Amino acid sequence: MFIKRIDVCMGAALAGIIGCCGCSKPTPDSGASEPPAAFDVSQLNGPAALQQVHDLLDLGLRDSGTEGLRRAADFITQRLEEAGVEAEQQAFTDLTPRGEIEFINVIGKLPGRGEGIIMLGSHYDTKIGMPEGFEGANDSGSSSGLLIELARVMAAGPVVGPEIWFVFFDGEECWKRYSKLDGLHGSRYLAGQLIDDGRADEVEAVIILDMIGDKNLNVTIPRNVTPELVKRVFEVSGELGYRSLFSLFSMEVGDDHMPFLEAGIPAVNLIDFEYGSSPGRNDYWHTVQDTRDKISAESLEVVGKVALGTVNSLLCDPLGFSGQGAVDSRR
Ligand SMILES: [Zn+2]
Repeated sequence: MFIKRIDVCMGAALAGIIGCCGCSKPTPDSGASEPPAAFDVSQLNGPAALQQVHDLLDLGLRDSGTEGLRRAADFITQRLEEAGVEAEQQAFTDLTPRGEIEFINVIGKLPGRGEGIIMLGSHYDTKIGMPEGFEGANDSGSSSGLLIELARVMAAGPVVGPEIWFVFFDGEECWKRYSKLDGLHGSRYLAGQLIDDGRADEVEAVIILDMIGDKNLNVTIPRNVTPELVKRVFEVSGELGYRSLFSLFSMEVGDDHMPFLEAGIPAVNLIDFEYGSSPGRNDYWHTVQDTRDKISAESLEVVGKVALGTVNSLLCDPLGFSGQGAVDSRR
């Protein structure tokens, strides 16, 4: 991903809307209908997610267009199917500074009752051209392993209104510098396909996970996301007792949420862009220091539970019905 300094302060706008929420459960004699079904956040298991990360890393590098990437795609497909999630590989070619490359998005889908789509995403390719010893443990092993664990928990039920998509994007990393021809290939392809199919309006929200395994967790949500989704993430992290681990970053971040935002789809990016040797530094990013010893089960569990809780919040109170005050990028 890339970063961009901006002057706009969104913090003030958010300060007034951070409160508590959630589905109020109807009492037995209230006559109210049952609250919408919700996923069991307590089932999200950090050690299980960490094992998925290690198993993925054991396969080696996952550079786009290589045998390593294809091996990782098959691994993810198999793990999704073992979890009870129907998975497909979406192969496509795209022009890059290295010429035409074949990319593979892996997409797992849980059926819903026909009320839209909620998408959870992570890229799984590794940064191209790194020196010997590069592992890509946090970027992009951590979020990919966690997304497999999220699929396992959510496949256990219940069946909810929206379809739940687990999307493992290829081609997030750029070769030289981010542009329409370099980086974000998988997310741009899927967003474009949703538009072409007339389905972009069906996607209620996209939650992208990236670099979320750092033992020293500090999720720095970038500025270029849908504010209403930030509000939900802050509410849920507060309810779970993790609020201090989630903050707004001072900058925009270019990541797989962007093509969806540009398509008018609400999207948020949960990323810890302070992955380094001391607080506030990001000096492990895209270096041989990005190794599995820096990743913890606890951090994976925190982010997994907040992501799952955010999905529950959307099931209870869909964005379309509570969007007053939110910036709906579709209009
Ligand atoms: Zn990267």
